Amino acid sequence: MHREGHVGFSLIVLAIIMHIFHCWDLKTATIALGFSTFPDIDLKMGIAHRKWTHSIAFAVLVGLVFGYVTKLFGLGFESGFWGAFGGTVLHIAGDLLTYQPFALLYPISKKKMALGLFRSDNVLANKFMLICGCIVFIYLYAKDFGILLTFPRNPFR
Ligand SMILES: [Zn+2]
Repeated sequence: MHREGHVGFSLIVLAIIMHIFHCWDLKTATIALGFSTFPDIDLKMGIAHRKWTHSIAFAVLVGLVFGYVTKLFGLGFESGFWGAFGGTVLHIAGDLLTYQPFALLYPISKKKMALGLFRSDNVLANKFMLICGCIVFIYLYAKDFGILLTFPRNPFR
């Protein structure tokens, strides 16, 4: 999945989780959105794609390091950890929807998996995910905070 697809997918999942648990933590959600594209840094670094950076172990490592950084800057460990860990996990979950299999539990297990719903470079799927993400996030946020436009009630009822 491309950057816009990952952001859209993350928006959908984050909005649904925050809606269900009534916990709109926008600081952590923003960090998670930022990290939702981070694992593809392997492409820029020229190392094996979807290997080290696309595993739960990497997500934990990224969460611990970023949690430590946010703690150093007085922002607390929890937002940094959950944002970076969550964003990385959301990226991995998004890539699982595509064709190219990878080892989610690397280096513990090398068993590769993928759901194969669409190609990661499918323009339509990526754009659709981004548009759906924006709509779902705005809708659930507006609904939970009572700022959803409501039509006037029928005065004759
Ligand atoms: Zn990826």
